[in-house]
Amino acid sequence: MKYALNGITELKLQPPAMLHYAQSLRIRSWVQQAVEELFASYSRVRDWTDEDFMLLGRSVPTLVRAFDALQYQYRRYAAVPPRMPEPDLLSSCLSSKHDTCKRVWTDGWCKKIARDILHPVTPLSLSKVVDLVIETPFPGMTDCCKNNLVTSLSELNAFQFDVHLREQVVEEICRLHGISGPDPTLST
Ligand SMILES: [Zn+2]
Repeated sequence: MKYALNGITELKLQPPAMLHYAQSLRIRSWVQQAVEELFASYSRVRDWTDEDFMLLGRSVPTLVRAFDALQYQYRRYAAVPPRMPEPDLLSSCLSSKHDTCKRVWTDGWCKKIARDILHPVTPLSLSKVVDLVIETPFPGMTDCCKNNLVTSLSELNAFQFDVHLREQVVEEICRLHGISGPDPTLST
């Protein structure tokens, strides 16, 4: 048990079983880890088995609602490329050239970023969109416009949506199962 309390991920359980033990043993840090795993690989409710539903127990409605909200947000953000900032007066990007920046951005968003966000098996987490934009080449976009774009995307709270949602789910599951205060400690 002492070994187990170090971290539930070390037990190599499937996420629904992780949450099941986290709930019955009332260990908040385990709930956090289990919810993280569920968001990473169990967000497609239609793939859940009867056993998964049983293990997730009273947390099922919370999780189903959260994953539905997540899908909606992913589709919404993928559908429209975020606005590309206009170059400022001191910028090295002239307005004639900037039309190319905007076209390249819209193309790149639709062909790469949106496709990754909407990937049916391994959708890109919204919180990783900025990193993907940084590492994706947009041939024809000026360096200063790419930098402006990355700065403006980093300031968009929208891409933190799944992080906030995960925190809300942890809070709700802990409340449902009467988990409050710090994790239990072992007397050795
Ligand atoms: Zn530009």
